[in-house]
Amino acid sequence: MKKKYVISIIIIIIILLLISLVVLFFWPPKFELTKGQNITLKYGQKYKEPGYKVTKFGHDYSKNVKITNKINKNKLGTYDIIYQVKINGLTFKQIRKVKLIDKEKPKITLTGNQNITICPNKEYKEEGYKAIDNYDGDITSKVQVITKNNIITYKVEDSSGNKTELTRTITKEDKTSPTITLKGNQSQTIYIGESWKEPGYTAADNCDNDLTSKVITSGSVNTNKVGTYKINYTVKDSTSNTFSIDRTVKVINKPVKNNSTVNKGIIYLTFDDGPKEGTTNVILDILKEENVKATFFVTNSGPDSLIKREYNEGHTVGLHTATHNYSTVYSSVNNYYNDLLQVQNRVKRITGYESKIIRFPGGSSNTISKKYSKGIMTTLTKDVVNKGYHYFDWNVDSDDAGSARSSKTVYNNVVKNLSKNRANVILMHDIKPQTRDALKSIIQFGKNNGYSFDKITMSTPMVTHGVNN
Ligand code: ZN
Repeated sequence: MKKKYVISIIIIIIILLLISLVVLFFWPPKFELTKGQNITLKYGQKYKEPGYKVTKFGHDYSKNVKITNKINKNKLGTYDIIYQVKINGLTFKQIRKVKLIDKEKPKITLTGNQNITICPNKEYKEEGYKAIDNYDGDITSKVQVITKNNIITYKVEDSSGNKTELTRTITKEDKTSPTITLKGNQSQTIYIGESWKEPGYTAADNCDNDLTSKVITSGSVNTNKVGTYKINYTVKDSTSNTFSIDRTVKVINKPVKNNSTVNKGIIYLTFDDGPKEGTTNVILDILKEENVKATFFVTNSGPDSLIKREYNEGHTVGLHTATHNYSTVYSSVNNYYNDLLQVQNRVKRITGYESKIIRFPGGSSNTISKKYSKGIMTTLTKDVVNKGYHYFDWNVDSDDAGSARSSKTVYNNVVKNLSKNRANVILMHDIKPQTRDALKSIIQFGKNNGYSFDKITMSTPMVTHGVNN
């Protein structure tokens, strides 16, 4: 009986041992995922394994873990990461859920400025926009455009519900004045008795375009009375921005021209383009010997000392041109005066005298100026007189700047064209040796034939050509 009892207890113990062995064998390990079973990942962010630990009865099995990563980084969604470990032929498993989400807002870009000013009479025309999302790509077609008063709102939402909003402000205003462009010169000069006709104008505005018909002119020109007249041109655009401009029309007396009854039989020797060493100095010597006064229309060339001598010896120092370059001198009224002032200042610097006696390069009848500025001689011939200058052309041409190359030809050209019935203004150039060499004979011919000599002064009546440009 006792023996049987002992055996039974042993059997029970063995059975219990066996059971606990089996239980221990199948007992699961401690399988831990760092950061838990659910994690969130932002779209575009790279998945980085946070870690794990597998232990059973103090033994670390972490090295044996095999990981299967099912994440598709290009597509939003929830993905499994499967961790598996084999212990004694048994497989244990853990799953981590990774949620790939998009939290980034789409971006809207506007073509043109965010603040736009347009004319009050115009409607805003959409300048364009674009919406790009980090996940959806181009979602421009999903943009909602809402216009309220002067604010345009652009709204867009991506497939994950991220929203973006942008506004554009449209301001309707016109702060720019219209402009009036006058045809013809702003400052005009006419001789008394001549007719004057409005040369015309145009008016333009940034918002209203052509406003010519809205221009209001006031003022008039009395062509029969010397004076300065103002014509005013004013225009208003539809927002009442105003522009106003004046044109000045000067009516001046016709200059006294030479005629047969004034200064009959006087010879005015005139010399252009100098001074020049070698010719001008000899000419001055001859004039001194013959006791004759002449007129020099000087340029910016040659020595100052010869201009000083011309002046000191009682001749008239007139103004020709500083540069004698037609393309600059006649390119505009302003350029003409710039050139003239240069030579006027030179003479003033040397002599202290402000000469107002001029000769146009090429004469007032020149046609070369047409090439550079149409109508400039018509303007200048009046304008210089208006400014107090007297200009002189000639009625006897020695042709020493042309085909007269010998002193004999120069002499002949002069003497055959002299007349007792008028003042004789002779065109010569003191830079020409043939003129220098003909001068003594010309003076002697004049003296022997009853002519007298004089220099041009401000009281000498102008001898002028007809204007051809
Ligand atoms: Zn000249």
